[in-house]
Amino acid sequence: MDRSDVIIIGLGAMGSAAAAHVARRGRRVLGIEQFALGHARGSSHGRSRMIRMAYYEHPDYVPLLRRAYELWRQTEAAAGRRLLHVTGGVYIGPPDSEAVNGAARSAAEHRLDHETLDRAALAACFPRFAVPDDHRALFEPMAGYLVPEDAIEAHLHLARRAGADLHEHERVLSYRADGARVRIRTDRAEYEADRVIFACGAWATRVVRDLGVEVRATRQVLGWVTPTNPAPFAPGACPVWAIDCPRGDSRRGVRAGLYYGFPLDAGASGTDGRGFKIARHAIGAETDPDTNDFSPRPDDEADFRPALRAFMPDADGPLAQMRICMYENSPDGHFIVDRHPRTPNVLVACGFSGHGFKFASVIGEVLADLAIDGATRHPVGFLGLSRFAQSLRAPTERR
Ligand SMILES: Cc1cc2nc3c(=O)[nH]c(=O)nc-3n(C[C@H](O)[C@H](O)[C@H](O)COP(=O)(O)OP(=O)(O)OC[C@H]3O[C@@H](n4cnc5c(N)ncnc54)[C@H](O)[C@@H]3O)c2cc1C
Repeated sequence: MDRSDVIIIGLGAMGSAAAAHVARRGRRVLGIEQFALGHARGSSHGRSRMIRMAYYEHPDYVPLLRRAYELWRQTEAAAGRRLLHVTGGVYIGPPDSEAVNGAARSAAEHRLDHETLDRAALAACFPRFAVPDDHRALFEPMAGYLVPEDAIEAHLHLARRAGADLHEHERVLSYRADGARVRIRTDRAEYEADRVIFACGAWATRVVRDLGVEVRATRQVLGWVTPTNPAPFAPGACPVWAIDCPRGDSRRGVRAGLYYGFPLDAGASGTDGRGFKIARHAIGAETDPDTNDFSPRPDDEADFRPALRAFMPDADGPLAQMRICMYENSPDGHFIVDRHPRTPNVLVACGFSGHGFKFASVIGEVLADLAIDGATRHPVGFLGLSRFAQSLRAPTERR
């Protein structure tokens, strides 16, 4: 039977980063991926992922983001390719907007470079956004986007270069851990290691069934259009942006959610990603990750078209492309990065809930710390499983 120091299961955003970090520290790494490396059947494809520092979801993420930015730059230098594009970011919403108020809270708490814009300033700086008069905005210069396919490829390249053995088209079926060693059974072979890292995205709690919480997969739509007036959306003229529409606008057919997007052609490769990208950050229809329909349907366009028409009329041109991706939702929308509660040599990183990609670089480092040293200096306690303590009790203890 093959033996490794660390086995990493799932080589998407988090697993590829973990493989690079663990291998670089001289450990014997085996990575196992059920599909082709860099596939488009999980949560990490679509040519662009937003990265921002004034994190509206919670200020506790900001220290991790500082390190994530540093590590993305290091990965770019080591792999010799550009992954992170800083464009600035503008977040717009009504007075009770969680996205704008939460970003302002993180910016204030962590003294981040930012500017708040009232309606007049917003209209003067970003006339392309047609939003109601009560809307306000926050601009941060640090925001931008990552190219997810390139970032995963870079991490896998660095992992291989440091000696990692990476298997594709091999599915993990089960595991057994006794605290000292972990045994993994796949559809091809059995392997043994001191530690295992499960980074299985939308499949997380199908693979690690006894985690005590459930990660639910949802079907999410991405759209690209050809703007009728492209100039205001061109790279250099357009930041990454988000417009919070918490209650939707039924009169105009706009669904509730946080609409977001990128400058024209952000991350494009050939025709893939060409155009102006827009998507709605809101939990989509629940799906089975094994049978999810990744083919866009004509009615998927209704997810973003009315918002485009309402808020960015200059961009409301012909449809260029749609793609389908999956969110991997934890019960509270926050990440799960921890040891398994009963077997400490089993680590899990999952539940990234549609906002995890920007953190992949630092999550890779955290997982390497936990796998090799048993501890990390990074403040990840708030992402631990203990916050779900009630549901983590053994089944017999539950009422
Ligand atoms: C439409 C959309 C837009 C998003 N926008 C943003 C954004 O702007 N900014 C941002 O930061 N984040 C964003 N995200 C979220 C981010 O992309 C995800 O949180 C992140 O990519 C998840 O990474 P992961 O490694 O957990 O999952 P994945 O990258 O999907 O990797 C999991 C891997 O595990 C493999 N696997 C599963 N089970 C097994 C098994 N049994 N055996 C072997 N391999 C297995 C899978 O095949 C897969 O490759 C978005 C997500 C979506 C879907």
